This record gives sequence, C-alpha cells and structure tokens, in this order.
Amino acid sequence: MPRRPLVVGNWKMNGLRASLKEIAAVNAAYDLVLQERLDLVICPPATLILTAAEQHQHGAMLLGAQDCAATSNGAHTGDLSAVMLQDVGATYVIVGHSERRADHGETDALVKAKALRALSAGLIPIICVGETLAERERDKAFDIVGAQLSTSLPDDGQINFVVAYEPVWAIGTGMTPTANDIASMHAFIRRSIEERLGKAASQQIRILYGGSVKPENAQTLLNVDNVDGALVGGASLNISDFMEIAAVYR
Ligand code: PEP
Repeated sequence: MPRRPLVVGNWKMNGLRASLKEIAAVNAAYDLVLQERLDLVICPPATLILTAAEQHQHGAMLLGAQDCAATSNGAHTGDLSAVMLQDVGATYVIVGHSERRADHGETDALVKAKALRALSAGLIPIICVGETLAERERDKAFDIVGAQLSTSLPDDGQINFVVAYEPVWAIGTGMTPTANDIASMHAFIRRSIEERLGKAASQQIRILYGGSVKPENAQTLLNVDNVDGALVGGASLNISDFMEIAAVYR
C-alpha cells in the first residue's frame, strides 16, 4: 500500500490566540481533494491546542504538539505529558527536534522515552534526526543519523511513528541538501528501519524531510524517493506558503 503523504507545520514558539484564525484558514483550505491525498497537521504552541481543537472539531486537519515529557505525570514542573496533549486534542507530537536537543540538552535516549510515552498515550510521535554542518563536512552524516535512529526509535514492536530527517544546518537557514543527498539519506533511513523492524514496517513508516522547505523548492524536495512529506517550520507561519507546499500532492 502506498504511504499516505504527511505535511506538518511546526509553529515553534510563535502564535497567540489571534493566530487561531490562521489555523481556521488552513482547515478551510484543506479541501476534499487535499484530504483525499495527504494528512495535514499544524503543531501550534501547546497553549493554542485546546481552543484550536474545540473550534475545528469537525475539520479534517489534525493538531500536534511540539514536545512531550518522557514521564507520565507527577513532580515535573513546567512539563506537559503526552496524555495531557492527547486530552486537549493533539494527534501527533514532535520529539527530538534539534532546537530541543540544543536548547534543552535532549539526548537520543530521552527522545526515545518521549516517543514511547507518546505512543502509549495514543499520540503519533514525529521523531527528528539530522546532522550538523560540521558533521556533514566531516562526512559523518550517515554515522550520526544511524546512531540517532538506533538509540531513539521505539524497539517494542510499535510502528505508528514518523521519522523526520532534518539536517540541522538546513533549519531556518534557506539552505537545503541536494535532491541526491536527500534521496541517499532517506534510503539509508528506510534501510535502518527495515533492519530494526522488518520490511513490512519499514514500508509503512513515513519519512519526512524538514529544513527550509518553501513553495519554491517543495515540488523538487517532496518528489525525491522515500520522501513521504515535509516538516515545515518558517513557511508554515504563512498560510498561503504552507498550503502551496501541501498542494504539491494535489
Ligand atoms: C523545523 O523547525 O522543523 C524546520 C524545518 O524549520 P524551517 O522550515 O524553518 O527550516
């Protein structure tokens, strides 16, 4: 069965209640043709998930969170559990984004714990991996991504997760790898998943590309082999840009 494309907008730490109308606009633009072709998700700041979910109860667009705690509940001031996020209307959750790895010292082991916690709460984790520029320049991109995959992917038989390949140097910079480099990395990720979880699972799991996806490059990037969609940061803050990216699948 072909994998269903997935386009996810990561709003990062942007968006106040006034931005709920932007989510409504995405929902309205996600017409029946697009609904048939791809899954569309917005990950606003957690503060907006509940209201957005209540406003769009009958909409087809889904909501996601940008992080969750690795623990279920208890004395963890400031953290939000996967169950809480699911409770307010999230379906997906991003884990291991490079900004969290850099800003909060998140390790692969912690990312895996978060992914497992998300799965047990019924959320679909989007597990981010990717090398830095220095690592790519030292020809270490495959080693780094391979190590991230082997330590951060669930290994308990659950396969309802998504992998996002996001080269750190491409995030928010306007730079992207070549289509060939993306194809090699995504094939490598698919093989790694196969070695770990078997062929059937590896054929089902979606691998997104993320890093400076824009309307101008979306057609090229999303048509690379083994690219099953995009994780979009900056361009998801502009609804017409975001919908133009999704429209590659129209
Ligand atoms: C991201 O933050 O996941 C991302 C891909 O950002 P951008 O699209 O802005 O590079």
